[in-house]
Amino acid sequence: MSAKILDGKALSKKIMNTLENEAAIFHRKNGRRVGLAVILAGNDAASAVYVKNKISACHEVGIESFEYYFDESVSEQELIDVIACLNNDKNVDGILVQLPLPPHIVQNNVLSKISFKKDADGFLAVNAGNLMLGNPALNACTPSGVIELIKEAGITIAGKEAVVVGRSNIVGKPVALMLLEQNATVIMCHSHTPKLSRFTKLADILVVAAGRKHLIKGDMIKEGAVVIDVGMNRENGTLYGDVEFDSCVKRAGFITPVPGGVGLMTIAMLLKNVLKAAQMYSMD
Ligand code: NAD
Repeated sequence: MSAKILDGKALSKKIMNTLENEAAIFHRKNGRRVGLAVILAGNDAASAVYVKNKISACHEVGIESFEYYFDESVSEQELIDVIACLNNDKNVDGILVQLPLPPHIVQNNVLSKISFKKDADGFLAVNAGNLMLGNPALNACTPSGVIELIKEAGITIAGKEAVVVGRSNIVGKPVALMLLEQNATVIMCHSHTPKLSRFTKLADILVVAAGRKHLIKGDMIKEGAVVIDVGMNRENGTLYGDVEFDSCVKRAGFITPVPGGVGLMTIAMLLKNVLKAAQMYSMD
């Protein structure tokens, strides 16, 4: 049997259509468009492509973009000053600092200056803390995309055994908290987990965010499992997931492809966060 494909392209398009309607309603009610400020520092080619894609997705749904480009030599203080202005700008609902920043800059010194109300990526301590407490928050985009993909397929999370491979602050930890919030029983694995397959074989829902090409093989998953591959590993211009698709597709019940799965959801969830920020905080 072959698994059903969880199609991130189709779902992200559907979400973008809804966001376009909601953004138009916001515009009519408030006399201005929802706005996202994007800060890019340095010459990283991949970052430039990511920023371009995020900006064009904004325009697709009627979100205004405000773009700030800096040389590699930009100082921490210059970035902090721009963020201070944007925090006070009523036309800006979300602020995104594209990572990585140039090596001489301490990322957290810059990111932590963003108002939690404009935290488009959902990375800040206040939003991460609210996620942990089960309060409304601007949540990390990739984990939100994972949950949307699972729910859209009509898969019940409550009561399931979910295993998350990877414990980063931007993917592994928040996705584990979201699965817990949905009443899954959650196991977290990481680089110090001995005999990973012992745990992955238990998973009704397996989310893999390790950044290791083809870490998960078909014989490491349970028959019928939902397999979500967050991994993006580039090798000679080709993108590979953390899941060996060809062996896992035969055993899984549902599986995300790479590309075409989680990656496309991340931008849609970023825009959803910006709209949510506008709806939650623009009257403050
Ligand atoms: P990270 O490097 O910050 O964290 C990786 C985690 O995986 C760590 O917690 C580590 O302990 C764990 N790990 C590493 N090797 C392991 C192993 N052999 N067994 C078990 N655990 C292991 O990475 P990240 O930022 O969380 O990203 C993970 C992957 O997801 C990367 O490939 C990244 O490119 C991708 N990613 C994709 C999107 C998207 O939009 N699709 C967004 C963010 C990250």
